[in-house]
Amino acid sequence: MQKLLREGYEVERYVKQFFDSAGDRNVSFQAEFRTDDGLYARVDALESMGNGATALYEIKSSTSVKTDAKHNHIKDACFQKICAERAGQHIDRVFLVHLNGDYVRNGAIEPGAMLVFADITEAVEEVVPSTSKEIDAALAFLASEQNMSGCSCVEKTRANHCDAFAIFNPEVPTPSIYSLPRLRANKIDDLRSMNVLGLDDVPDDFPLSENQRIVVDSFQEGEPKVSVQPIRQFLSELIFPLYFFDYETFSSAVPLLDRTSPHKHFPVQYSLHILDADGLLHHKEYLEREARLPDRLLDRMKEDIGPEGSLVSWHASFEKTQSRQMAALFPDEADFLNDLNDRMVDLEDLFKTAYVDARFDGSTSIKKVLQVVCPHLDYSDLDVQDGASAMESWKRMLDAAPEEVDGIAQSLLRYCERDTFAMVEIYHFLMELIS
Ligand code: SF4
Repeated sequence: MQKLLREGYEVERYVKQFFDSAGDRNVSFQAEFRTDDGLYARVDALESMGNGATALYEIKSSTSVKTDAKHNHIKDACFQKICAERAGQHIDRVFLVHLNGDYVRNGAIEPGAMLVFADITEAVEEVVPSTSKEIDAALAFLASEQNMSGCSCVEKTRANHCDAFAIFNPEVPTPSIYSLPRLRANKIDDLRSMNVLGLDDVPDDFPLSENQRIVVDSFQEGEPKVSVQPIRQFLSELIFPLYFFDYETFSSAVPLLDRTSPHKHFPVQYSLHILDADGLLHHKEYLEREARLPDRLLDRMKEDIGPEGSLVSWHASFEKTQSRQMAALFPDEADFLNDLNDRMVDLEDLFKTAYVDARFDGSTSIKKVLQVVCPHLDYSDLDVQDGASAMESWKRMLDAAPEEVDGIAQSLLRYCERDTFAMVEIYHFLMELIS
C-alpha cells in the first residue's frame, strides 16, 4: 500500500511538471469538494479551459484505463465528477492520466512520452446514472441503523474480494467455500442457499470439479490428498546437480533506470541452493547494491550455474519471464538464459493437483505450503518476509546512509536464501513421501 501511494505521488509530480512546462494552462491540483450529505472528493487536477469549460484529471500509476471488478477507473472518475457537480462545479471533460507501458527511459524522464491522457468523458457519462444511484444507496445506508454483517462480495468469487472481506463477513470460516479453486459464482449461490459456507458442510453429492472435490475431501477427512505417481514421476525426471533458484526483482511505476519501462521488473538479487547427487548442499547468492541493470548479476549467475542439472523454482513462469526479459536486454547472454529456462521445473505444480491440502486455504504460494508441510521452517524470524517488502527494502538500501546499507543487505540476503532453502526442504519432504 505504501509503495502504491508513493508511486501515485511520484506520477502526480510528473503530471504537474508536464502542465507547468506547457506554461499557459490554468490547472489546480488537489481541489477538494464536499457536499452537505457527506460526499468528499479530492480531485487530482482540475483545468479551467479557455472556453470557460472545466476538465477533471484523475491520475493513476497503472499502464491502462482499468475497468475490471476490483479497479474501475471509470467509476472512480465518475464519483469525482458527481461529487464536484453536486458541490456546484460543473465538469465538462474527464481525463484519466496513466503511464505508457511502452515508454523506455533514456536519461531524464520525459513526462510527455511517459504519460497518456485518455479522454474518458463519454465512458464516464454512461455510468453517471448508475453511479449516482449507488452513491445515494450508500448515503442512505450510512444514515440508517447500520447492519454491518456481510457485504455483497459473499455472492462473488474470491478474486473479487478486497482485504476487508474477512472484517465484513466474520461468519465465513477459513478455509471456506471461497478457498475452492475456480468455484463459480452460481455454485457459490447454490451453496449459500443451503447455508453452506464452511468446507465441512459441503454435501457429498454437490457437483464440483475434480480439483474442488479433492480440497473438500482433504478438509473433511482432515488429511492431505496425495497422488504418489505424478510426484514420483516429477522427481525421477530431475537431473543432478539440482539448482534451487529464486530471483528477487525491482519494479516501479516511474522507471528507475535507463532501458527500463513502467512496472517492468528486473532482477536485483538471486539465491541458489545447489544439491549434489551425493546429498551435499551448497549455497550461492548475489545482491546488486547499486541502481543498475542486472549485468553483474548475470556474470555471477554464469559462474554459479553449471551446464548440467535441473533448475528448480517455485512459480517458474515469473522466473522464466525475468530471464527472457534479461535475454532481450543482453542479447549476448540469450543462449545462457534460454538454456536455464529450458532446464527449469516448477515445484509449485505438484501442489496444485498431486498434493492437495485444504490447509493451503486455496493458495499454493511457497509460504502457505511450507507452513503445512514443513512447519519447523518459517519466515517469522526475518526482517524481510515477502517479495513486496524485499522490493521496498532494496530501494531503501539504495538511498540509505552508508552505515545502514549492510544491515539492509543482510536482511535481503537472508530472505531470499530462505525461499530457496524452503524449496530444498519441500523437495526432501516429497522424497520421503515417495520412498
Ligand atoms: S469484499 Fe466487501 S467490502 Fe470488499 S469490495 Fe467486496 S463488497 Fe466491498
